[in-house]
Amino acid sequence: MNQHEPIVKIQGVSYRYEKENVLEDINLSIHKGAFLGIVGPNGSGKSTLLKLILGLIRPQSGEISLFGQEIARFKDWHKIGYVSQKANSFNTGFPATIFEVVASGLTKKLGLFRSLSKEDRKKVYHAVQLVGMESLINQNIGELSGGQQQRVFIARALVSEPELLILDEPTVGVDAKNVSSFYQLLEELNKHEGITLLLVTHDIGTISDKVTHVACLNKNLHFHGETREFEQLKLGEMTEFYGHDVHVLTHHHAHTGGTNG
Ligand code: ADP
Repeated sequence: MNQHEPIVKIQGVSYRYEKENVLEDINLSIHKGAFLGIVGPNGSGKSTLLKLILGLIRPQSGEISLFGQEIARFKDWHKIGYVSQKANSFNTGFPATIFEVVASGLTKKLGLFRSLSKEDRKKVYHAVQLVGMESLINQNIGELSGGQQQRVFIARALVSEPELLILDEPTVGVDAKNVSSFYQLLEELNKHEGITLLLVTHDIGTISDKVTHVACLNKNLHFHGETREFEQLKLGEMTEFYGHDVHVLTHHHAHTGGTNG
């Protein structure tokens, strides 16, 4: 793959489940090192777009390539980690420790995880450390808060060392008071670990502090660009895009330090 080639390249993609398009003529590229937030109201096609990128469904028109390769021929799925929307659904009785849940991210490769090598165990500890959960590593997942569980699912996705991490509404189930430190974690994974991030959310208020790029989806892509440009969008335009759902526009924090966005 040419180093300037985007990690994800979507060209002229449309998708319909039944008669009507739910995505129309989407053109979107994600470059290495980006933290892209895709925002859009419920039903705007966000999950459908993720399913297309994950190769779970095929577009009726247009093309998608991953790491410079046409998706139909792409085989390096270990380069892509995915944390689904429904990840945070364990209840208190669930009999698996953080270690075991994170190790299960390796079992696709290993089969049984009692065959974990020393090297694999190190990888599990490292992933748990990256999400700041090492002090609870032997605790049962069901005893954790929603936000802590979500960190564990991120660790499970990280254990196979993906270059791109995709998150679908990751803050659903995270307490409001922990949302900011959760985004902080994502920002650290992006900046310090060099992991390219793609996050979809219906919540435009909380993401613009952290992401380098924003895409606004509502069947079509209404805007795609750097966060700076997004913050300059007029409230009127956002109201038109979101209808009555617009509550918070953006946080106007001074950005310190250089990002590539
Ligand atoms: P979002 O993730 O932004 O909420 P979705 O991608 O889930 O949006 O849905 C986009 C549109 O496609 C919605 O109108 C939804 O009802 C429809 N849709 C989603 N999944 C299916 C399906 N399996 N069959 C038919 N229609 C679907």
